[in-house]
Amino acid sequence: IDLYQPQRRNSGGIDLSSESALRAVHAAFDAAMATDWNAAPLLAMEAEPGGAQPVRNPANREDIVGCVHEPSERDVDAALCAARAWEADAAQRASVLRRAADLFEAHRHELMLLAIREAGKTLANALGEVREAADFLRYYAGMAEADDTAQALGIAVCISPWNFPLAIFTGQLAAALAAGNAVLAKPAEQTPLIAMRATQLLFEAGVPRTALQLLPGRGESVGARLVLDARVDAVLFTGSTEVAQGINRLLARRTVDEGREIALIAETGGQNALIADSTALPEQLVQDALASAFDSAGQRCSALRLLCVQEEIGETVVKMLKGAMRELVIGDPASLATDVGPVIDEDAQRALQGHVERMRAAGKAVHQADLPDACGAGSFFAPTLIEIDAVSELTQEVFGPVLHLLRYRHEDLPHLLDAIHATGYGLTMGVHSRIDATVEDIAGKAHVGNLYVNRNIIGAVVGAQPFGGEGKSGTGPKAGGPLYLKRLQRDGQWQGGA
Ligand code: GLU
Repeated sequence: IDLYQPQRRNSGGIDLSSESALRAVHAAFDAAMATDWNAAPLLAMEAEPGGAQPVRNPANREDIVGCVHEPSERDVDAALCAARAWEADAAQRASVLRRAADLFEAHRHELMLLAIREAGKTLANALGEVREAADFLRYYAGMAEADDTAQALGIAVCISPWNFPLAIFTGQLAAALAAGNAVLAKPAEQTPLIAMRATQLLFEAGVPRTALQLLPGRGESVGARLVLDARVDAVLFTGSTEVAQGINRLLARRTVDEGREIALIAETGGQNALIADSTALPEQLVQDALASAFDSAGQRCSALRLLCVQEEIGETVVKMLKGAMRELVIGDPASLATDVGPVIDEDAQRALQGHVERMRAAGKAVHQADLPDACGAGSFFAPTLIEIDAVSELTQEVFGPVLHLLRYRHEDLPHLLDAIHATGYGLTMGVHSRIDATVEDIAGKAHVGNLYVNRNIIGAVVGAQPFGGEGKSGTGPKAGGPLYLKRLQRDGQWQGGA
């Protein structure tokens, strides 16, 4: 079996530094602005007409992007009744998923505009969403073909997050469909519109309406109802550790009641650290730390939360970081100049504010970038640097543009690694050092899914850098890696690990 697909290519981008290309992108955005976006349950049969809720642009609360009609209880039950595994062999499924990838690329402007307006993604991140979604479709199509005798599990529920509203939404369902399962997809409540558009494109590519149904509802109602239903054979979840633990408990109860195991793939958060010793190049370190902590407004589960700097270079790095933070452009995510867009909503903004206030009250040095006045219209949060004295001060994952910095002494490095492990998370980690032995030592001891050396720690590439963590960061297998489909198939022989 060719698990590594050497012939596969990742999706191409747009050269946003070319003025004519950028003009074309904005012209396409202008044209798509006229669209009336409406997300409703996309079921194998007619859905009940429900009340509509507005979907707001996080960069400007006055801007209503569209509306969402949530599924009724009867809709959820009807979707479960109608769900049928796709009657097609692996090669046929793969060819439909590849067609969907082509359609996503052909409709990239519309999808990018939705990622920007609905999720506050910057232009570059919005393009990244479309590329990663197409990559997942093609990668899992190849995996399905590579092992075309495997049997599907049955009905898979995909619960996806707002931080990658297209890429992770598509990644989950592409894997479940490629493996031959019927999918019930429940996108995050903040981002139903892009999920709806993606689902329509999957239908256009040839995915049957009984194999894929969309339920754009809330986690507490629709998500919980689906996870508890005895007809559901697998759950794919990306989101917070707490919710994943709750799902795990519900599924454990079902295992007791039903006498069978229900597959769970959970990808959750991290308390991701980057360790820089005194041989690290400060310029490169600052650039990589900045990208890792503040790209996507820090709303990646892979994002850098804790920068550990050997004390000899601590002062230089802090000074350079503060200078670099002053240069960050915060504001309209649709502008190419913008580095940091909004956080997802006012709840997220309040939680971040609460954390910074608690740290200030505890006497920590807090440095914040200035927020331009125009940011008052949306849920923006200024990139923030907080100096802490011990890893144990990080008691919870802070999901946004907040970077903590800790200075350490060389002899304390083993203790530092222990303290990072003691958080219980194990998603990403970075090492900046010009000493091979140091890199190897840390890499050998690190309990993380993805370790990056002398570079930033975000943006894992499908097929090349399988992504996922251990401990409180997730169950495995890694997304965009060779074992992912195995967990969604009956003879998958997945026994834990990568
Ligand atoms: N795969 C993404 C990355 O490497 C992160 C996914 C997430 O935030 O859930 O940056």
